Amino acid sequence: MTNEHLLAEIGNDESKILLIIGGMHGNEHSGIEAMERVIEKLKEKNYPVRGKIYFIIGNLEALRRNERFIDIDLNRVWSESYLQNGDQHYDVKELKEIHRLIESICKGKYDHCTLLDLHTFSADSGIFCIPAENEKSEELAHYFGVPFIEKLASALPETALNYYGEKGMRSLVFEGGKHNTPEATDNLERAVWLTMAYLGFIDVKDFPFVKRMKKELEEISEPFPHRLEMVYHHQLKDFHHYKMNKGYYNFKKITKGEDVARQNNEPVRSPFGGFMLMPLYQKKGSDGFFIVQERKTQKK
Ligand SMILES: [Zn+2]
Repeated sequence: MTNEHLLAEIGNDESKILLIIGGMHGNEHSGIEAMERVIEKLKEKNYPVRGKIYFIIGNLEALRRNERFIDIDLNRVWSESYLQNGDQHYDVKELKEIHRLIESICKGKYDHCTLLDLHTFSADSGIFCIPAENEKSEELAHYFGVPFIEKLASALPETALNYYGEKGMRSLVFEGGKHNTPEATDNLERAVWLTMAYLGFIDVKDFPFVKRMKKELEEISEPFPHRLEMVYHHQLKDFHHYKMNKGYYNFKKITKGEDVARQNNEPVRSPFGGFMLMPLYQKKGSDGFFIVQERKTQKK
C-alpha cells in the first residue's frame, strides 16, 4: 500500500485493525515521535503482533510548516460534505488522502477497527482522553486511567473521532500534554502501548514496561477526577479577538461567573463552575475553552 500518510504498517492478520494517527494538527509533532518509538521497538524485536497496526501521519503540509493547519482545521472537516465539496480548502486534500487510506484498510467494515488519534494542547498540563460516544470506546478510555470526558465527542463534530465513532468504530482521542514537550511524547507513547495491550495486539509479558507505563499515567492523573462530562463549550467565530486570561490549565477548578478571557475587549465569564478544559493559548483554533464537571453517578 503506498500513501504518503502511511508511516508504517505492522502485522499480517487483518482480523483486527488498529489505526493510529499522529500530527492531525501540524503544530503537534509529539504523536509522530511517539509512533516512531513504538515502531522501532516492535521492529527491533521483529514482534509478531496479533492483528494489524497502521501508523498514519495527519496533515503533512501543516507539519512541514509547523502550523496547526493551512486554511481549515483538518480535524473539523470529517464529513461527507467536505469529502465531496471541500476542494477549495488546501487541508481537505489531506483529508481525502487519509480518508482514502483508512477506507482502503477498513473496506467499509468498522467493527473490528480501532482509531487512536494522538493530540497535544496549548495549555500547560492535564492529560486526558475523549472517547467516541459508544461503550467500547468508553471502556478503553477507562482503562487508560487518565481523566476522560463524556459528551465531548458530539460537541466536536466533523472530527475523525466522531466520523468513525458514528460508523461504529472504537475511536478515541488521547491528549498527551503540552505541544512538543518530552512529556507529551512520553504520554502518547504510553497511550499507544496500552491500547495495543488492552486490545491484545501485544502480550504484556513480552513488553514488561507496559505495566509501568500504566502506573505512570495513573500517577500523573491522580490529582484529577477520572470521569467527567462536558457541560459548556465556548465556541469562537473569530479567534483573532480572543485571549484567555493567564494561568489556566486542564482541570483547574473554576467558579461560576469567573472572568476567564477577553473577547472583543469584553470579559468572558464562565457560565458554570467546574474544571477548565483546553483553554486556548495558541494563535489558531475555534474552541475558546470547555467546562467539565465530575460525573459522580455510575453509568448503568
Ligand atoms: Zn490536536
